[in-house]
Amino acid sequence: MLVIGAGTAGAVIARQLHRAGLATLLVGRPGAGLRPGESLPGAARPLLRDLGLLSVLDHSAALPNLGNLVSWDSDTLQPTDFIQDPHGLGWHLDRPRFDACLLEAARSDGVLHIEAQVNRVQRLSEGWRVGTQAGDFSAGFVVDASGRHGVLRRRLGLARICDTPLVAVYASARDAHEDHRTVLEATPEGWWYSACLPGGRRIAVLHTDAGNASRLIHTPSLWHQGLAGTRYLQHWCRASEGWSPLSATGAGGGALCTAQGPDWLAVGDAALAFDPLSSQGIFNALYTALRGAQAVVAHHRGDQLGAQAYSGQLHQVREHYLRRVRYYYQAQTRWPQAHFWRLRRNEALRA
Ligand SMILES: Cc1cc2nc3c(=O)[nH]c(=O)nc-3n(C[C@H](O)[C@H](O)[C@H](O)COP(=O)(O)OP(=O)(O)OC[C@H]3O[C@@H](n4cnc5c(N)ncnc54)[C@H](O)[C@@H]3O)c2cc1C
Repeated sequence: MLVIGAGTAGAVIARQLHRAGLATLLVGRPGAGLRPGESLPGAARPLLRDLGLLSVLDHSAALPNLGNLVSWDSDTLQPTDFIQDPHGLGWHLDRPRFDACLLEAARSDGVLHIEAQVNRVQRLSEGWRVGTQAGDFSAGFVVDASGRHGVLRRRLGLARICDTPLVAVYASARDAHEDHRTVLEATPEGWWYSACLPGGRRIAVLHTDAGNASRLIHTPSLWHQGLAGTRYLQHWCRASEGWSPLSATGAGGGALCTAQGPDWLAVGDAALAFDPLSSQGIFNALYTALRGAQAVVAHHRGDQLGAQAYSGQLHQVREHYLRRVRYYYQAQTRWPQAHFWRLRRNEALRA
């Protein structure tokens, strides 16, 4: 087995496959530096427990997430208190550290890890050859855990459904606010959130159209003006100091038409990616790693239906997700002429 990508999904599925007795090679560089994707809902607790990975939260110094404050379909700021959530509090993660702990858990269980970028994937008459700067590796079965980049999809030309494009433009700063809840606010040009990060920092992210994102990256002062112009979020960011340079990343939802083939399977964002509004991405990376590993093990024992059932399960998850995300975009009816919202409302109405 060869797993491409040493992020959340990759580290977890490699560990699960190794534990099931399958020789597994994990190839990829762990992420470093600031990246958005730091809120893990309390619903992940049983999943981490089943995986035997609950201790990773302590080891990565995750902070409790007490709740959200949201201004979405009205001018008021509505609190959601996670104490009332049956799953309990969520967490704010130091994401590179969280992923590094998952990788360490895989390595210390015995997974062989090659820290290298995959730059070639070739299908042979039987199995695969995967090329990296550290050399070429052969495998009978490949798992794509390379995130939205989707290494296998690009190499094989696999069909992927892409939802309305969405770009996240973000920066971090030293955090000076005492309220550590996540704040989310809709504005005419898109929606913002700000969350605290372990280590005394705070991230602020604007989700907007590609055209607007490119304008902000070229003229960062416009992003800072947008932040200062928010009704609520600015109060969590006002005293923040030393903003990092702006970065941008694709954040739109999407899914492979099928998440598996006779000798491959995709997990995490490589299989099914969500709009960050859902806060579901890390949970999905863990869940698909767990279920994906079960499907690969079944396949190895000659049960071909397990992987198809896995793909069908992801299809159902996506249908459920689409209903929810469309509901939220439709509910936001302020600024009917704003391009960002018109596009999303029309899409929800067409569905
Ligand atoms: C703006 C934004 C905010 C978000 N906020 C949240 C949130 O609050 N909560 C939440 O749950 N989710 C959030 N998400 C989603 C979440 O970050 C992802 O769903 C999650 O990271 C998916 O994990 P993954 O392991 O599938 O992919 P990734 O975390 O992307 O990991 C993929 C790995 O593959 C590696 N890789 C890529 N190409 C190659 C290659 N050629 N060779 C080797 N390795 C390669 C990468 O370096 C990386 O280490 C957010 C996403 C965005 C964009």
